[in-house]
Amino acid sequence: MKTGRLTLEELVGAFRALGGEADWCDIRTRIAGGRQHSIKPYKTKASYEGSLKQLLYERCPGSGKYRGDEKFKKVRDSRYRLLDFNLSSTVSSEERPSEPGDLEDALRRSREISESKRDATLVAQIKTMYGSQCQLCRKKLRLPSGEFYAEAHHVRGLGDGGPDRLSNMLCVCPDCHALLDLKAVDIPRATLIVNASHGLAQEFLDWHNARYKERWPVSPRTAQGSLTPASPATPRP
Ligand SMILES: [Zn+2]
Repeated sequence: MKTGRLTLEELVGAFRALGGEADWCDIRTRIAGGRQHSIKPYKTKASYEGSLKQLLYERCPGSGKYRGDEKFKKVRDSRYRLLDFNLSSTVSSEERPSEPGDLEDALRRSREISESKRDATLVAQIKTMYGSQCQLCRKKLRLPSGEFYAEAHHVRGLGDGGPDRLSNMLCVCPDCHALLDLKAVDIPRATLIVNASHGLAQEFLDWHNARYKERWPVSPRTAQGSLTPASPATPRP
């Protein structure tokens, strides 16, 4: 746990953890998380956020407080990039993508990391365990050959420090896989299909669900990303 005043190193560390580029609100959340949500030694939340903004702005040309030694760059509204950072070297799926191209990009990069690190035996094992049925929506995709197609998802991504173990994996359909990678759905334990021998760990589901909540604080499973069917109209008496 970090204590004391915010430092430039801490800010740079947050950028690195977020893949080198992030929205202001994600940077703030990341740093607060590293401090276990403690704002000490700041007296108020506003003074803590003010210090964080100042750290960012004084190294960011065009911010109005820029002092001449650039470290960050404003990419667009409330989105900043750490300069001299190789985006492809450390990839996190935690960015909040806001344009269609960004969504595809985030998805592709989170998958590149996953593909390069994961054990193919475990991937096969999780699919066999569930007969290629999606643990979230229960769909089974049948190919023309008669085989079923499914994908393996790491609940806490390998690029985010999650382990390559069955306890951190789900067997899912491609639709659910994309929504999970984008943290666009939560994982409700109650409706998830879970085999007794799976050993799925709650801590990873909690990790995912916390990311989902951070990302969509006010949109509880209403639109596209929802796995919950719309509730039926109330029957007339
Ligand atoms: Zn599914």
